[in-house]
Amino acid sequence: MCAIEAGKRGRRVAVLERADQLGKKILISGGGRCNFTNIFCRPEHFLSANPHFAKSALARYTPADFIALVEKHRIPYHEKTLGQLFCDRSARDILGMLESECEAGGVRSFLGIKILEVERSTDFVVRTQNDEFRAAALVVATGGLSIPKIGATAFGYDLARQFGLAICEPSPGLVPLVLGTEDRSRYCDLAGVSAEVVASCGDQRFQEKMLITHRGLSGPAILQISSYWKKPEPILIDLAPGREITASFSDPKQPRNLAAVKSAFQSFLPNRLANRWLDFHAPAAWTNSAFAELERQVHAWTITPAGTEGYEKAEVTAGGVDADELSAKTMEARKVPGLFFIGEVVDVTGHLGGFNFQWAWASGAAAGRAV
Ligand SMILES: Cc1cc2nc3c(=O)[nH]c(=O)nc-3n(C[C@H](O)[C@H](O)[C@H](O)COP(=O)(O)OP(=O)(O)OC[C@H]3O[C@@H](n4cnc5c(N)ncnc54)[C@H](O)[C@@H]3O)c2cc1C
Repeated sequence: MCAIEAGKRGRRVAVLERADQLGKKILISGGGRCNFTNIFCRPEHFLSANPHFAKSALARYTPADFIALVEKHRIPYHEKTLGQLFCDRSARDILGMLESECEAGGVRSFLGIKILEVERSTDFVVRTQNDEFRAAALVVATGGLSIPKIGATAFGYDLARQFGLAICEPSPGLVPLVLGTEDRSRYCDLAGVSAEVVASCGDQRFQEKMLITHRGLSGPAILQISSYWKKPEPILIDLAPGREITASFSDPKQPRNLAAVKSAFQSFLPNRLANRWLDFHAPAAWTNSAFAELERQVHAWTITPAGTEGYEKAEVTAGGVDADELSAKTMEARKVPGLFFIGEVVDVTGHLGGFNFQWAWASGAAAGRAV
């Protein structure tokens, strides 16, 4: 996106890509259909040590701007849920669109590039195995550490450090959580079972699906909360959002026994999860106070994850180049004129649902208009 915007302004642009192909992550995104933006994109959908940083770029390149580009290229798309826009056909459509916009702007791409060093004299000098590139502006768009097998590197962070810029400690975000041994033995044989829950951590809460996996918990609610979770904090899971499960037991005609409680739970949770959860949380007695405690627990099931599935499975990397080091308008490093950082390498991390691409497009456009 940065190359496109800069190319449109007549700048001579070279894209140096380590992989044998551009935009590999676009191709695997959104299950191969690329959730390319979210129509409800707001600054609140992003995490950063500086929560105001992303506002300017997001306001100047909006989901509507990207949708206009998608429509110009006649790419069919649909809203899946919660404002998330996906390609009808394939993520290849988005990559093809970006490549043809690059071509129109005269952008040259160099693939399979191994950058050996970057120096700054009057210009930036980028040395690769066979070439040397010189330019007044260098834009770093190397992404985060997620999915090392498709080529993620720490190059962007290393370069930031080389130029004296601070880094907010990177960590895996939008990542499945791994349970400790005891919880794993209790629940993980239910792998594949899912339920609509509210997952919360601190003052963040997400109401979406939770999925039990072979090693822990996943699904959109868990992926969202994982970006906020820090070991050894617990997460709270409301298994019955908006429902009062034990209400019927205040009726004296309603029998108070395990079968009746199970039946109440099975009305909102998959049977296997309801039964299993009650194996470990059945009321200690059939008293009003025991029912009140059961009600409290079902809305605040406390789980302390042992860890995450790490960068191998993380959809994003939280943390990155400290936003305070950059101009919010242009993404240029304040201390190093001509050096820009955009996209996921910056300490701006979106929620699940198309927000990470919207940040990549918006920050790229901001830099592309300034280089
Ligand atoms: C499985 C998966 C699915 C996802 N689905 C979605 C989705 O549907 N919607 C959404 O909004 N977000 C999604 N994301 C997140 C989104 O893909 C990223 O946030 C986004 O791609 C970041 O863009 P970027 O340009 O900053 O970095 P990237 O897309 O990661 O691109 C960085 C590029 O830099 C190259 N590179 C790295 N190191 C070097 C180096 N040393 N020299 C030269 N080149 C280098 C890489 O090869 C890569 O091509 C998904 C992520 C994953 C892992």
